[in-house]
Amino acid sequence: MTMAFYITTPIYYVNARPHLGHAYTTLVADAASRFRRMRGEEVFFLTGTDEHGDKIVRAAEKEGLTPREYVDRVSRLFRDLWPELAIAPDRFIRTTEPNHQAVVARVLNRIHQAGDIYFSEYEGLYCFGCERFYTERELVEGKCPDHQVAPERIREANYFFRMSRYQSWLVDHIQRHPDFIRPERYRNEVLAFLREPLEDLCISRPRSRLDWGIPLPFDERYVTYVWFDALLNYVSALGWPDGKLFAAFWPAARHLIAKDILKPHAIYWPCMLQAAGIPLYRHLHVHGYWKVEEGKMSKSLGNVVEPLALKDRYGLDAFRYFLLREMAFGLDASFSEEALVQRLNADLANDLGNLFSRVLTMAWKYLDGIVPAVDPETARQYGLGLGPEAVRTASEFERAMEAFEFHRALAAVWEFIGRLNKAVDLSAPWELAKKKSTRPQLEAVLASLLKGLRLVAGLLYPVMPQTAARMQAQLGLDPNAPFYDLEELKSWKPFPAGTRLGKAIALFPRVERGEEPEPEKTSASGPAGSPERPPLKPEIGIEDFLKLDLRAATVLHAELLPKAKKLLRLEIDLGERRTIVAGIAEHYRPEELIGRQVIVLANLKPAKLMGVVSQGMLLAAGGETGPVLVGPEKPVPPGSPLK
Ligand SMILES: [Zn+2]
Repeated sequence: MTMAFYITTPIYYVNARPHLGHAYTTLVADAASRFRRMRGEEVFFLTGTDEHGDKIVRAAEKEGLTPREYVDRVSRLFRDLWPELAIAPDRFIRTTEPNHQAVVARVLNRIHQAGDIYFSEYEGLYCFGCERFYTERELVEGKCPDHQVAPERIREANYFFRMSRYQSWLVDHIQRHPDFIRPERYRNEVLAFLREPLEDLCISRPRSRLDWGIPLPFDERYVTYVWFDALLNYVSALGWPDGKLFAAFWPAARHLIAKDILKPHAIYWPCMLQAAGIPLYRHLHVHGYWKVEEGKMSKSLGNVVEPLALKDRYGLDAFRYFLLREMAFGLDASFSEEALVQRLNADLANDLGNLFSRVLTMAWKYLDGIVPAVDPETARQYGLGLGPEAVRTASEFERAMEAFEFHRALAAVWEFIGRLNKAVDLSAPWELAKKKSTRPQLEAVLASLLKGLRLVAGLLYPVMPQTAARMQAQLGLDPNAPFYDLEELKSWKPFPAGTRLGKAIALFPRVERGEEPEPEKTSASGPAGSPERPPLKPEIGIEDFLKLDLRAATVLHAELLPKAKKLLRLEIDLGERRTIVAGIAEHYRPEELIGRQVIVLANLKPAKLMGVVSQGMLLAAGGETGPVLVGPEKPVPPGSPLK
């Protein structure tokens, strides 16, 4: 029977754009999924977006959109990001999908009918930021620990989930299943929390206060609390209660989260499942935070680290490698561009890249790029004795990947890479190539090194799928194999004789970290001006200014202009619909412009750019690293003139 592996990320709350933390969690799920596929397991990898609640309504209002328009837009940013990071979920779920909403209603009905949901008047301290009531002892100096504001005392009637009833059952379950919550420190944290009495959970919000949610099936005057709605995605995505996927994958469920959402996942969720008569998930894997070292980031990356900007600057696989190599899963880690560049140059360009190009160069120089046939006896005598180390490396890699110790799995591969580099130096193939008598030895050495590279390529696949495929292609192996067979890699079998190798390539060119001016320098440039701040232009009268027809407009549609690197084609609403071509494609992605308001010079003579007539010009301020669009501070009707 094939093993099943079901892994989930949290569904991300769409009140903000994707950032480094989201990218890390989802990348971990992707690497773990790829690893499991290498072992021939059946894998289902779920991610998605959480789209209801107060905060969404407020974020939508701020942008002048309906909640529906707003969640569609932000959810798409997440969905579109993953393929760009070579992250391949099997399913992307949204809590606004009708199927999910039906599951939430069904579970609520079940728990209600079983008597675990009751109606009660409640007066308490409510944090509007968190959308929840706080008890006195949860506050820090009388303030919400997340928002640092004092909660407001409000009184309302609501529905409550009788969570307190499950406290001792949950403690017992966690104690009897040491691997239910991992790593250990988070398990201890949950058990410590459960030493205090567990309170019932308020699971409704009056519709008079919040309408954007799933109505309670037994009382239309209320919508469901966002956490009660969101957590159920893990079963609704599998078609609970009788979906085939649910039967196949739920028994193998693992949830992957960052530590800030430990309590809902380790406490609310098991109690909800138990109350609804659904078996519990198997494991909860909890990771720490990325601390971004702000002073050490170049300005274009900014303080909110944009996964795409990093990928574009340093390459996809370097980004993926860094995140999984630098963080010990479970602990906090710091993110700095410096550290990323250092790892890229040392681990990737130097250790791996040099080894790869050295071995292939020699294989071409001495063997015409064809893998030689080496008899077993010669291989045993001259083959560098790599076999036992290869097997040890693959086993340690497997153990560490299974335990979510990604940094250790990669360290094991790099130890082996170091061993291969040393083997090149010690065996000195260039010396062996000088004499005819050492030809069998030369062939045995190179064949063995190629085998080593094949193993490295295979083991890198979960973390660096593109690099693995490039290495496979140059090694003359099928780069389109959908994944790599771990058992076969571990067998250390001979490299097929007669295989035609590709030429040596640089897998990872060395990079320098972009040197950018210090803030003082630009502000001290003075009246003489600088490229960023040209001298002021001569004075004009108001009549000159009035010739400009400046209008606020809303971007309706945006897309890249084919073949033009810098140009975007925008459809805007300026009271009338117009097309504008703007040279901002290197700084803005089309989807982040849609719905946004901009300022347009409306009476500029139309001009043809790359075959498209542009009927106006967008206004932008010259930022330090490129244009920054200018727009009204609050939404205004499209076509409003500037004065
Ligand atoms: Zn709060």
